Amino acid sequence: MHYTGTIWRPPYEANSLLLEVTAGCTHHKCKFCTLYAELPFKFKMSPLADVENDLLEARAFFKQQQARGLFKLWPNAGPARVFLTGANPFVLKAERLLEIAGMIARTFPEIGSIGCFARVKDVALKTEAELARLRAAGFDGLTLGVETGDDAALAFMRKGYQAADIVEQCRRLEAAGIGYNFFYLTGVSGCGRGEAGARAMAAVCNQLHPQRIGASMLTIYPNSELYQEIRRGVWQPEAEIEKYQELKTLVQELQRPVWFGALGASNAVPFAGNLPEDRARLLAVLEEIIADFSEEELQDYRQNLWHL
Ligand code: SF4
Repeated sequence: MHYTGTIWRPPYEANSLLLEVTAGCTHHKCKFCTLYAELPFKFKMSPLADVENDLLEARAFFKQQQARGLFKLWPNAGPARVFLTGANPFVLKAERLLEIAGMIARTFPEIGSIGCFARVKDVALKTEAELARLRAAGFDGLTLGVETGDDAALAFMRKGYQAADIVEQCRRLEAAGIGYNFFYLTGVSGCGRGEAGARAMAAVCNQLHPQRIGASMLTIYPNSELYQEIRRGVWQPEAEIEKYQELKTLVQELQRPVWFGALGASNAVPFAGNLPEDRARLLAVLEEIIADFSEEELQDYRQNLWHL
């Protein structure tokens, strides 16, 4: 299989076949981001011949495992879903995405859906007709790292869109029947603005229907532009305790049914549940974290997190 650099995927894509169709990020400008810093290029598309060879290799692997009887306990003798890797494969032209979906369908006819990371701007590049064709070809459950609905934070971090763009483009996904998930970046609004950031995110989510909201906590590495902004005194990070208060506000303010989780390594204490039914439990977990851990202990966790 062709895999370039660190492969990032959401926790809920753990059972998906990871297929490299791009590497890196077309945007590459967010001040806090160091995810693809190790790559010697900004963005690249995989040659379609490599994608096809990877699919054939994966097919042969699953057939071999099946022949050895290793799937006896599993209902499916292979993956039910493919996750296309790279920071934003959805930026690819619709025709290329459809070609890749065709290859997947020919090699793994049993695969029901295709997911990937997508930027808000990637959705804006597609027409309504193209979104409908992509949905018909299996694209569903995209993950958008929207980070926040706080316009000031989005502008400062150079995300390249505003809250209104998130709402507009996600409504277009909804109209095409393409489900989507959000990543939220706790702490992105900066010191003293955590609660306001959470309210702004809830205001966006309460107009939409994301299937999941996965929260990561801002972890600032020295090779990020944000680190330099802090050194220059332009921006101040939130205290760790403020980040948990921010999450509490977000959990309180989300009105529509949604899975909410904080599961990645950036969260010192992982938790997840469905809203609204698990709201009281999630709030109790967050209150317990705030009561039981000192700022120093949580800082210590963050400072020793050498890799996300
Ligand atoms: S946060 Fe996402 S969009 Fe921004 S530079 Fe990093 S990978 Fe690209």
